[in-house]
Amino acid sequence: MTDEVVSVWNEKRLGELTKLWGQGLSITQIGLKLGVTRNAVVGKVHRMGLPKRQSPIVRSDKPFEPKRRKLSPLTFADWDRHKCCWPIGDPRSPDFKFCGDKVVEGRPYCEEHCNQAYTSSNKDERGNKVA
Ligand SMILES: [Zn+2]
Repeated sequence: MTDEVVSVWNEKRLGELTKLWGQGLSITQIGLKLGVTRNAVVGKVHRMGLPKRQSPIVRSDKPFEPKRRKLSPLTFADWDRHKCCWPIGDPRSPDFKFCGDKVVEGRPYCEEHCNQAYTSSNKDERGNKVA
């Protein structure tokens, strides 16, 4: 399998690689231009000892990973009766989750969300007269 990668490099490609590298193209772009894999480019650049560039190009090939939340909210699939079913987010959005904290006995929500549910329903009863 490594043979394939090695044989990819002929004089012409090596010349191109050096040139493109010098021009500051990203590894992905060089790979695309030369028709080789990113790994092949990385390996070759490393072996050739090409100078590191102050690349104006921001590494864009790494997907941005959002930081994990402290809570680990649940999806519909892993919710059960003993977990708080307070909805978090927009129910129409794919990010929609449940709170998932331990519930207060006899209630569908955790302590915090019980309080929230209670307070708001009290307000509703006083504020809005429902006929
Ligand atoms: Zn909750």
